[in-house]
Amino acid sequence: MNPKDFRKHAHELVDWMADYLEKKDSFPVTPNLKPGSIKSKLPEKAPDEGEAFNKIMSEFNSIILPGMTHWQHPKFFGYFPANSSPPSVLAEMLTATLGAQCMSWLTSPAATELEERMADWLRDAKGLDPSWKGVIQDTASTATLCALLTAREKFSKYQINKKGFDGYGKFRVYSSTHVHSSIDKSLMVAGIGKENLVRIEVDEHFAMVPEALESAIKEDLAAGFTPLCVVSALGTTSSTAIDPVADISDVCEQFGIWHHIDAAYAGTALLLPEYRWMIKGHEKADSYVFNPHKWMFTNFDCTLLYLKEPQYLVNTFSLTPEYLKTASDGEVNNYRDWGIQLGRRFRALKLWFVIRSYGLQGIRNKLYFHLQLTQLAKSWIEAEGSLEIVAPVPLNTICFRYVEKNASLDQLNDFNARWMDAVNQTGEAFFSHTKLNGQFVIRWVIGQTDVEEKHIQEAWSLLLEKLGSITPIDLP
Ligand SMILES: *Cc1c(COP(=O)(O)O)cnc(C)c1O
Repeated sequence: MNPKDFRKHAHELVDWMADYLEKKDSFPVTPNLKPGSIKSKLPEKAPDEGEAFNKIMSEFNSIILPGMTHWQHPKFFGYFPANSSPPSVLAEMLTATLGAQCMSWLTSPAATELEERMADWLRDAKGLDPSWKGVIQDTASTATLCALLTAREKFSKYQINKKGFDGYGKFRVYSSTHVHSSIDKSLMVAGIGKENLVRIEVDEHFAMVPEALESAIKEDLAAGFTPLCVVSALGTTSSTAIDPVADISDVCEQFGIWHHIDAAYAGTALLLPEYRWMIKGHEKADSYVFNPHKWMFTNFDCTLLYLKEPQYLVNTFSLTPEYLKTASDGEVNNYRDWGIQLGRRFRALKLWFVIRSYGLQGIRNKLYFHLQLTQLAKSWIEAEGSLEIVAPVPLNTICFRYVEKNASLDQLNDFNARWMDAVNQTGEAFFSHTKLNGQFVIRWVIGQTDVEEKHIQEAWSLLLEKLGSITPIDLP
């Protein structure tokens, strides 16, 4: 494609993008497709000859678009949002155009220095300890793995990196029973083994019980295990339960264990002063992760990992062969030494665009609005006698279900699953579910960038309509 054609197609694409953003709520939120139906429309072999851009674009519209889930649809209420925003999309266009690989300071000084600045801005805006330092990574899964590997290497004085596990006993890692699956996976990858994740009981609010953590650690020590790390959650994935960070930090301090705080979703709420109580005591922890790509209007992927003592992370990951040595090593951050990958995207740019376009207050206003809409939806559910809210709603996730006297747990679970499916199949809105105490509950997460009151009203009408029309529970 020559520069003249590029300019022409780029203009067309910008129009496509603006049209899409204007009418994104007119698409079905999720496609209703059979597995394989998109693939069967794609040729089995790659083309030998180049094809016209218009043809590619037309098949994007006819084949790909109908197979997309529209995560930016204002009635996408499932999982956690991966919300974006116009300034973030524009920054992604620049990032793609520059195509820089930002592995070290020299390979793009601006990328490194902007990353440092963005990490500091967000640290201060969220009230994290001013001495902590941050790095941008792709996902919370990666960041948590990096934190765990750092804990392991700090403990082994970098000997496991060097020689493997030779001579090390069994490590243990602790979390609540509501831990995100990325923690299990990080134990698998770190060679610790997922069976060595000890799931600590939760209280009636689904938050970790610190006394139970302390006893589990003591029991493990008596049995010859090596307690290595505790992963606490600010905002569990099921119900956004908030683990007691300060108490957990105290337990970690007592036993000299690394404390990693997983605030992947709820971390954004720390931009609101009212939510700072959640991180009371975090200064004693060792690392903290949150995803601007979930609730902070920044395109996937963008994760911030903060460390109290980043030198442990750098010691764990730095490895400088001759061909990567530069004259400025030692004076600057080479972010390739702050994680697993060598090559790194320029992710700080979209954060800069988002934070400057909205301003911190603009972001806060949006978060307040989402929290307000959540309280409204919550009041509707509470007023409906046949529904119950199953977990506290500290943020913008509501876990609720239909209940009926004399129905068994299995019957209720089956009914609630059928109810959610009936709603989702309309393509009008999308919800996902979880299980709390064995109960199937629908999660309603109100955090999409452009969600408005009319969207939650429409979703509520749809929920009630389907509740009245699906086959009722057959009681004896
Ligand atoms: C979403 C989530 C993760 C995983 O985030 P990725 O960035 O997709 O890896 C981890 N922990 C919690 C609590 C989450 O909500």
